[in-house]
Amino acid sequence: MTEDKSEMPRTELDQLGEFGLIDHLTKNTKLVQPSSKLGIGDDAAVLKLKKGLMLVSSDMLMESIHFDLTYTPLKHLGYKAVAVNISDIVAMNGTCSQITVNIGLSNRFSLEAVEELYEGVHLACAHYGCDLVGGDTTSSRAGLVISITAIGTVAPDKLVSRSKAKIHDLVCVSGDLGAAYVGLQILEREKKVFLTDEVMQPQLEAYEYVIGRQLKAEARTDVIQWFEDSGIIPTSMIDISDGLASDLLHICKQSGVGARVYEDKLPIDATTKDVALEFKLSPTTVALHGGEDYELLFTVSQELHEKVDEQQDISIIGHIAEASHGAELVSVQGDVVVLEAQGWRHFGNRGTGEQGTFGIIEQ
Ligand code: ADP
Ligand code: MG
Repeated sequence: MTEDKSEMPRTELDQLGEFGLIDHLTKNTKLVQPSSKLGIGDDAAVLKLKKGLMLVSSDMLMESIHFDLTYTPLKHLGYKAVAVNISDIVAMNGTCSQITVNIGLSNRFSLEAVEELYEGVHLACAHYGCDLVGGDTTSSRAGLVISITAIGTVAPDKLVSRSKAKIHDLVCVSGDLGAAYVGLQILEREKKVFLTDEVMQPQLEAYEYVIGRQLKAEARTDVIQWFEDSGIIPTSMIDISDGLASDLLHICKQSGVGARVYEDKLPIDATTKDVALEFKLSPTTVALHGGEDYELLFTVSQELHEKVDEQQDISIIGHIAEASHGAELVSVQGDVVVLEAQGWRHFGNRGTGEQGTFGIIEQ
């Protein structure tokens, strides 16, 4: 689990006070975006508008609901909180230029702990080239709260929403699916072991990839750069935060279409498969319903088949169909399964040809 910090220095937050803390956390913040006219230090940040559309998106993370500090290093949490917000801007085919960070802290947190959180925030800002231009700091009795707002831009003719997928479009996904979910299962399992026997140190090496996918989320800015470089504008797009099935259903509903995806086309990493089976879960279930991968699910017109197909790290998993079909998965055996947003139902009739729901496989 996270290293023992008892030997490390601890500075109480009330030694600094609110303004001292804000100043301490943000004093080295540099602005690199030309649109950032004024950052931290006034009543509001000032952004210079140019032509184009502005994108704004917020996400709030609550301790014990969205993260568990037993196994989440604060630096990773700060980074992830920024990355998942940027992912929402990226899912509109946009570029993030600024973020604001709101934090709620209880006196359980020392200055050193908050510094660690901000190390992750600053690292993510540097990695994605966006500016931290403001935020708010308050005390909390309910553990750590971190809420980030990301601001970005997109040219009007490049904007991609969830609502313009057309029949026959290809359904595509970046990277691989289900890894963040199985990574979380490993961390939860090791936490239980740790709580019963503190001397036991977790054996995590074999699971490095999937744990990394849970703790070190990245926004796929490289994918939208590829769109830009190759002149591709998807007809619809969403980032996969809740799971492929649920997010594909969002596209279907908002575009007024159905979709058909194929089990054998789902990109699943070998480690994800192994870990899923270790937990007696079907790798397909995990790929369909495991959230937090932050990959991009998008649709493109059929003419782009070749261009998309030759791109490594992008998988064509199916196509858009008539709305009356709903969202369907064609299993390896050729059965058609209706996809539902809520996963984890028992998958009772595999192989019968009847419609069922993917869920936990009992072995
Ligand atoms: P106000 O009282 O006007 O809300 P604050 O004292 O809360 O101002 O904040 C002072 C400045 O510091 C503002 O520019 C604000 O955006 C910024 N700020 C406050 N908290 C944070 C934070 N957690 N991270 C980054 N900037 C912050
Ligand atoms: Mg304030």
